[in-house]
Amino acid sequence: MRSVEQHQRVVAGLIRARPPAAAALADALGLVLADDVVAGLSLPVFDNSAMDGYAVRAQDVAGACSKSPVKLPVAEDIPAGRTDRLTLAPGTAHRIMTGAPVPAGADAVVPVEATDAGVSVVEIRSAAKPGQHIRRAGEDVTAGTTVLHPGQLVSPAALGLVAALGIDQLRVIPRQRVLVISTGSELVVPGTPLQPGQIYESNAVMLAAAVREAGAQVAGMVTCGDNVGQFRAVLDEYSGLADVVLTSGGVSAGAYEVVKDAFPMGGSVEFVKVAMQPGMPQGAGTLPDGRAIITLPGNPVSALVSFEVFLRPALRTAMGLPDPHRPRRTARLAEAITSPPGKRQFRRGVYDPDAGTVTSYGPPASHHLRWLASANCLLDLAEDVTEIPAGEQVRVWDLASWEHRPH
Ligand code: AMP
Ligand code: MG
Repeated sequence: MRSVEQHQRVVAGLIRARPPAAAALADALGLVLADDVVAGLSLPVFDNSAMDGYAVRAQDVAGACSKSPVKLPVAEDIPAGRTDRLTLAPGTAHRIMTGAPVPAGADAVVPVEATDAGVSVVEIRSAAKPGQHIRRAGEDVTAGTTVLHPGQLVSPAALGLVAALGIDQLRVIPRQRVLVISTGSELVVPGTPLQPGQIYESNAVMLAAAVREAGAQVAGMVTCGDNVGQFRAVLDEYSGLADVVLTSGGVSAGAYEVVKDAFPMGGSVEFVKVAMQPGMPQGAGTLPDGRAIITLPGNPVSALVSFEVFLRPALRTAMGLPDPHRPRRTARLAEAITSPPGKRQFRRGVYDPDAGTVTSYGPPASHHLRWLASANCLLDLAEDVTEIPAGEQVRVWDLASWEHRPH
């Protein structure tokens, strides 16, 4: 029997970072930078107005106030985007909009609110300090500065910054591509009628969502019957699209275990028992072309808990993402529970962060998907623990980030 930690290490060792690659900005959100980002230009790019108003020479409006305004002819109108280079003649004003280039010779902008908003002649009703309401070139970023570093997560603000610098691609650690294969001759795609003995296939959509929520990418979703030839054909056809092949079902001890049967004993895919509940039967290894294959048990709760325990941290680590693990909390158990000896148990729970309590939610069996669907945490109960009294502090994996939208 293998421990959870041992199998976590095996899976993590199989899932390796892809080489850095260029990504369009729209695809880079949530990925990790592989290179420095060096500013090729300064921000602001040029001296520009911080207000809608009038560009002036401060000395021309010295002493202006509402009782004694200064009148200046308006020689130019400068909307944002005007590209010709202008010079302000002494004793004149240019009407100027926010973001428009400040003309040479002007050293201040008087906001429109401190004027009569004149178009040909403007009445200036307040004095201006030199530099007032001018955003200077380079005051945010100087050309040549390293503004982002390798390992940094590409955030909305980081994307805004690089776009402002005129950059349209970033070198990032690409997403892991995961092919999701469901196995089972009893499985029917939702939306079609069920025959007696059939059930709806639910692991593929669930695991694919978990893949995306982990920050990785779904290379494809395939359902395959319990037929080794068909399973091998699916692998041949689709595994080339993926970095990781993720299967569910067909790995336990019965007959018709299609995934287990597809790989020879002692070969490059190992089938093991892991001391955990749910999720005891597991498999992991490599396909002949070196691609990772991780085989999860078919029971839906086992499959998703196994994903949480083995795949999610390994995928996130391979993508260089921060927080590969769900946040771990300690919470007070609201009621007594029992746990099987010798197995690390992951129970579904409802964690109340304000009260610092956790309640076990639903039975521990691995087919009770309903409870998992409304749980917000996993209780992580150690192998040697068998009875936990109410009031005891227990470890909880906080799944609240499930609320965050995947990419
Ligand atoms: P297995 O691991 O193939 O022995 O499957 C264990 C249990 O999970 C059986 O009751 C299967 O019918 C069920 N199961 C396996 N795969 C799926 C799936 N993709 N969707 C829904 N249930 C499944
Ligand atoms: Mg099966």
